[in-house]
This record gives sequence, structure tokens and C-alpha cells, in this order.
Amino acid sequence: MVSESTQQHMVQDWRVPVARPKLPAAGALLPFLEKLDQSRTYSNYGPVHRDLQHRLSQCFSLNGGGLALTASGSAALIGAILARAGRPGRRRLAFCASYTFVATLSAIQCCGYEPYLLDVGAHSWALDPIALGHHSRINEVGLVVVTCPYGRVPDFAAWQAFSDRTGIPVVVDAAAAFDTLQRQPGELPPGIPLALSFHATKAFGCGEGGAIFCADPGMLVRAIRATNNGFLGRRAVEGDNINGKMSEYHACVALAELEGWPEKAKACDQVAQNYQRAFRTHRQVRSLWVGGATSYAYALYHADTPEVALRVRAALWDNGIDSRFWYAFGIHGEAGFGPFARDDMPVTDVLSRRLLGLPFYCDLPEAEIEAISGIVARASTPARV
Ligand SMILES: *Cc1c(COP(=O)(O)O)cnc(C)c1O
Repeated sequence: MVSESTQQHMVQDWRVPVARPKLPAAGALLPFLEKLDQSRTYSNYGPVHRDLQHRLSQCFSLNGGGLALTASGSAALIGAILARAGRPGRRRLAFCASYTFVATLSAIQCCGYEPYLLDVGAHSWALDPIALGHHSRINEVGLVVVTCPYGRVPDFAAWQAFSDRTGIPVVVDAAAAFDTLQRQPGELPPGIPLALSFHATKAFGCGEGGAIFCADPGMLVRAIRATNNGFLGRRAVEGDNINGKMSEYHACVALAELEGWPEKAKACDQVAQNYQRAFRTHRQVRSLWVGGATSYAYALYHADTPEVALRVRAALWDNGIDSRFWYAFGIHGEAGFGPFARDDMPVTDVLSRRLLGLPFYCDLPEAEIEAISGIVARASTPARV
């Protein structure tokens, strides 16, 4: 028997879904796929993979390092953890935010660490490097994984300083940060790898895929090896590893996506601007997060209270418009996963119920954005009696 809410999810035919990914059309893939007929290399760092790796490293300033292409954002996280921290020694705890996507935790567990969930800052929605340094269990911590919530890029210098000061390895879950990193170009931290996802639902996608960005060349070598069964250059296994590399097929999609990226980013920017204009008209613009610091995978409505967010969600629902609490109510709120050791979660408990994901995709019609804004404005203002 499926629960009522599951059933509603299955049968509801949304007029406006919360996400509607658009990856390159079949015709755009064909020239890339035909290269595979020639090369007869379908994985293992073939020519398409190398081409993509080269072009992507030109898009980002990687400080003399580079990037490893992976099968998913999750594989990128595992590779980044193994390359930076390895498996745990005496310090078995891994600090991470409860307010994140489940894959952050799963990657930590796969590498053998015990996740320890922390609350986030009310404004940054992320871990605080200063507060962490004073945590009562800091001496048991062998790894910190910092999530970029909704693609928001953390203060890399502050995290590098934290890592230098404490000696604790830091890995950044930058799964949703492809476009935000591009919009805020800056040097990557020398000792901190970034794990990105190219999942279909992210702004830049290839179905399933990802990358590890490393400014440090030695760390990059370890990241490539850790996601290639421990091999690099010779047939001798070196270090803990998975098969987490990107196939030539996915590299084809990613190359086509990269070719169309300027246009896709422009379309997303237009949607973001339309949202801003509509919310301004309805005097709601202060409660809107779209574009800029957050990824083009999301439009977030920051309700004044959890009750308002629920009211808005219900009103959208009644109009055939889906919305989503993207990270649910924190990992500590998942009934079927964990429980994990954790701190109290005063910020996450409220923030996660106030930040509601509205529909966002590159061809979301302006008229729907106008409709969404009107519904949000009406549902968020209490009716006069
Ligand atoms: C999407 C996402 C992941 C997982 O990436 P996959 O490519 O789906 O494995 C991990 N962390 C965050 C914050 C994400 O948004």
C-alpha cells in the first residue's frame, strides 16, 4: 500500500513541475557519438573524455591543478575524500551539515567515516569554520565536508585557514556549484578539493556525471587514481579506490552541453530576471533567491515562517504547480536513514521549512513566473478579515 503522499506524487500531473531538465538534443550528440565509432574507446580516458577535461579546465581557473571527470557527483565526493583525507585513522568522525543532500552523507560513509551532523549558519546556510574550531568533539574529527547549499560558494580562504590551523582535511561538496563558481571566479583553495555534479537536475548536466576540481597537482593525481580502481599509468593498484570515472558516452553529452552552455546560461539568467521582476511587482523580492549567489538549478522562496512556506506550497499545489523542500528537513529528519550523532539543530529545523524551492528551468514561461509570483504574494499575506 502506498501512502497518500506517495500516491499524490505519482498521479499528480503537474502543469508546472519544480524542475524540467533540458539536456542536448539527440541531433547535437550525434557528431560526438560518431567519434566513438572511430575510437572504439567507450571509457578509460578516451579522446572525448580528454577533450572535455581540457575544455572544462579552461573554463575555470584551477591554479596549476586540474580536474578529474567522474561518473557522478557522489563518485566525485568519494574520490575527493580519498584523495585529500584517505580512509579514517584514529579520528573517525566526519563533520558535515545536516542541511544537505543525502549523497554528502553516503559518500562520507562509503569512505569509512562516521558522519557527525552540525547545524548551519542562519545566513550562510552552511557550516561555520570559526565555530567548528571550538566544537567539543573536534579532536575526534578526521574530515570536514562543507556543502555549498544550493550552489552558494563558501569562503574558501576561511576554510583553508581552518584546515591549516587544525590539520583537519576539508572537502567541499560543490555538487550544485558549476554556474555559481563561474559567476564568482576566484582562486581555488590550494589544499581543498571540490566535488561537482553534472546530474541532469543540476544547471550544467550530462545525465549522470561529475568532476573533482583540485588546485594541487599531487592531489589531482590521487583523485584520478582513486576514481580509476587505483590505477594510473601502470597496472599496479595504489590506494583505496572505486571505479568512479566518466564514460565516453557521458563525456559526449557533457561536451554537447558545454557547447550549448553560453546559450543555456543566458536562458537561465533570463528566467532569473523574470522572477526578480515579477517578485518586485508583488513586493516579495526580498524573499526570493534566484541566480547570483545560488545556482540556476533553483529558485528559492524564503518564507518568513514555516507556516507561510506550507501555505504557499499548498496554494501552488492547488494551481498545478509543484514546489520542493530540496534538502527536506535536514538529514537528521530522515526517518529511514541514520540516526547519526549530531548537535541540536535550531537553525536547520526552521530554515529547512522556510526555504521552499519554486519551479526553475531554462524555458519556464514568463506567464507561469507571473502566476507563481501572484500565488506566493497572496498566500504569504494573511487575508484581511
Ligand atoms: C546533486 C548533489 C549531490 C549528488 O550528486 P550526484 O551527481 O547525484 O551523485 C551531492 N550533494 C549535493 C549538495 C547535491 O546537490
